[in-house]
This record gives sequence, C-alpha cells and structure tokens, in this order.
Amino acid sequence: MTKPVLIVGGGPAGLAAAHSLASIGQKCILVEKEDRLGGAPILSGYAKLVPSGEWAKDAIGGMVSRVENNKLVEIKTGTIVNEFSGNPGSFSAKLSDGKTIKASSAILSTGFTHFDSVNKPEWGFGTFENVVTTTQVEQMISSGQGVRCPSDGRKPKRVAILLCVGSRDRQIGREWCSKICCTVSANLAMEIREELEDCHVYIYYMDIRTFGLYETSYYWRSQEEFKVKYIKARIAEVTQKDDKLIVKGEDTLVKRPITIPFDMVVHAIGMDPNVDNMLISTIFGIDLEPHGFIGKQNSYGDIGATSRPGVFIAGAATGPESIDDSIAQGHAAAMSAYAVAQGAGKVAAE
Ligand SMILES: Cc1cc2nc3c(=O)[nH]c(=O)nc-3n(C[C@H](O)[C@H](O)[C@H](O)COP(=O)(O)OP(=O)(O)OC[C@H]3O[C@@H](n4cnc5c(N)ncnc54)[C@H](O)[C@@H]3O)c2cc1C
Ligand code: SF4
Repeated sequence: MTKPVLIVGGGPAGLAAAHSLASIGQKCILVEKEDRLGGAPILSGYAKLVPSGEWAKDAIGGMVSRVENNKLVEIKTGTIVNEFSGNPGSFSAKLSDGKTIKASSAILSTGFTHFDSVNKPEWGFGTFENVVTTTQVEQMISSGQGVRCPSDGRKPKRVAILLCVGSRDRQIGREWCSKICCTVSANLAMEIREELEDCHVYIYYMDIRTFGLYETSYYWRSQEEFKVKYIKARIAEVTQKDDKLIVKGEDTLVKRPITIPFDMVVHAIGMDPNVDNMLISTIFGIDLEPHGFIGKQNSYGDIGATSRPGVFIAGAATGPESIDDSIAQGHAAAMSAYAVAQGAGKVAAE
C-alpha cells in the first residue's frame, strides 16, 4: 500500500498534479492555505484567460470541481504545513490543524505573489484613485461591473496600460521578465475596446514580449482589429490635474518628451516570489534560486526535482509561468512523485 502524495498549493499547477495522480489511482492530500481552491485566477478574480478566451471561473473552476469530486483527493483548505521530515517514500508532515500525515513524496505548487504597485510610487498607484492594476481591471470585467474609473464610476475615454510594473526593474530589485503580462495586457486592451467602443487604449512598453504564437493573436490583432496604440517609452511619472491623469515620459523611438492625459492608468503588475518562500524553504529543507523563487534542478533527470530528493515543484513557484505551462508542470511533477510513491510501495511489499 503506497502512502499518499502531499501537494501543497491548490492553484492550476497543484490542481493538475492532483488530477493526474488521482486518474492513475494514486491517493493524494492537497493542502491549500486559503479557504478555496483555484489559485490566482480564482482568488484574484481574473476575467477571460489567455489564450483560451474562457472565463477563469469556468476554466479553472472546472479544474477545481474535477478535483473536489475525486475520492482519491483529500482536500485541506485553510491549512499550511508547519513541519516536514523523513525521506523519499516515508515523509511525515505536521499540518496547522494539528494533524500529522504520512506521505511518500511531495509536490510544492505554492505559486507567486502579485507585485504590490505601491513599491513604484512615482507611477501614481496608491496616490491617485484612477491608477489601478491589471488584476483590478480583470475584477471589474469578471464581476460584470465593467471598466469604470474608481473615483466617480465614469466610463473612461482614454486608458493607458503601463507594462513591466515590478518586472525588469533593477532599481527595485526585480530583474526578471514576468513573461505573461504583455499578452495579458494586449488581451485586456481588446476587452476594454470591446466594452467601450469610443475609449482609446494606449500601451506603454519597453519591448513587447508576446512570445511564440501570441504575437499574431494578441500583439498584431490588438492593433489591426481593435486599434490599440503602442508607445515605446520610458515613463518618468504619473501625476493628476483635475480629473485627468498625466503620463509623462520620453518616446524612445523619436527621442522626444511626451505628456498625454488619461482617465485611467493601469499597471501591468508582475509576478513576485511567493512571500511565504523563506518559510517554505526552511520547513521543506529546499533551496531557493537567487531571485527568491523555489529552485529547481535541470529538466534532464526527474522533472520538477528540487534540492531535496522526493520533493518536487511545479508552476509559478519556480518563477513567472503561464497557466498552461503551470498545468503542464503539475502533470509532469505528478509523474515524478508517482514514481517515488510506487517505488516505496514496491519496497514495502517485498
Ligand atoms: C494580472 C494577471 C493576469 C494573468 N492572466 C493570465 C492568463 O490569462 N493566462 C495565463 O496563462 N496566465 C495568466 N497569468 C499568470 C497566472 O496567474 C499563473 O500562471 C498561474 O496562477 C500559476 O499557477 P500556480 O498554480 O503555479 O500558482 P498560483 O495560481 O499562485 O496558485 C498557488 C496556490 O498555492 C497557495 N499557497 C501559497 N502558499 C502556500 C502555502 N505556504 N501553503 C499552502 N498553500 C499555499 C495559494 O493560496 C494558491 O492557491 C496572469 C497573471 C497576472 C499577474
Ligand atoms: S511580459 Fe512584457 S510586461 Fe511582462 S515583464 Fe516581460 S516585457 Fe514586461
């Protein structure tokens, strides 16, 4: 009889891992610190997802129901792991609800933390009401409220989306590219244009990284079909005059200062390491990589291996990842964890 696999974190990566394991008959225990499953797309109320165009509540909600309805998955929400010890095939974890569980292997799918835009004060978030983040615009759309200026509820006529907020910024210690925010922003720009036909949407960028096939369906489509305007610029500051926000900077293509008024400014926030990572690293005895994400070994051996044998990793816990890649990594880590669980089961039976 094999011991269950412990999965920590119930976002897209953890849900994929749980589904994979259960579908091949392996019992698992899914521990999630919040009171519901679904990870960032559900907890932060994302709207339509890239690249499927499906509503997050349907797409990821479907993954949640599939796991909740599987008897081989024991779910513990509102719970964290406080202690973890043992060896591959025979781990022991003490949970915050006081229970101790046995596990053959573990998968950490603890995800990321959204960048907090107050750490970029010169761009107006936290000072001016109509400076918001991409997650707030996602929530406005997914709640059915529509895109409105928080100050007075009016429909914005001009919206600026500022890319790379909290990413690719050495001054605030965040060198990494968050990978998905160019595409998410192009998608949001099209959603705004779809809802508010007379609203002009501008995207301020350093470089556009709508990677792979997203170049056609997001970068070019947003310009050609939805008339979204792109400005390559270095932004100096966002200020306010009467009910307008003023974005000041330099157009780096023509090398001239530009000052444009807007009704709403949106920060395309990046993906920070999970704020729990130091604790997770200590409890599970695993290394972090230099930026503070959870370190993973190269992919040529066991997929998703960490510095500790028998403990695997998947999704945005390893660094910025898209949902599709987080799901793929969840399935792959499940294979690695299953091999450990089965190996231990065989030894016990012999
Ligand atoms: C504004 C925005 C929009 C985005 N839109 C898209 C999109 O349209 N398409 C796309 O592909 N990607 C999108 N992304 C990226 C997407 O959010 C991630 O790819 C995805 O959430 C990663 O899934 P995950 O399961 O690895 O992590 P998460 O979604 O972060 O889930 C991690 C889970 O672990 C839990 N957890 C954390 N710490 C602990 C702990 N110590 N103990 C127990 N549980 C814990 C969390 O509560 C959470 O439920 C977007 C990102 C942003 C910032
Ligand atoms: S994906 Fe685009 S917006 Fe996000 S950090 Fe990379 S370049 Fe900046």
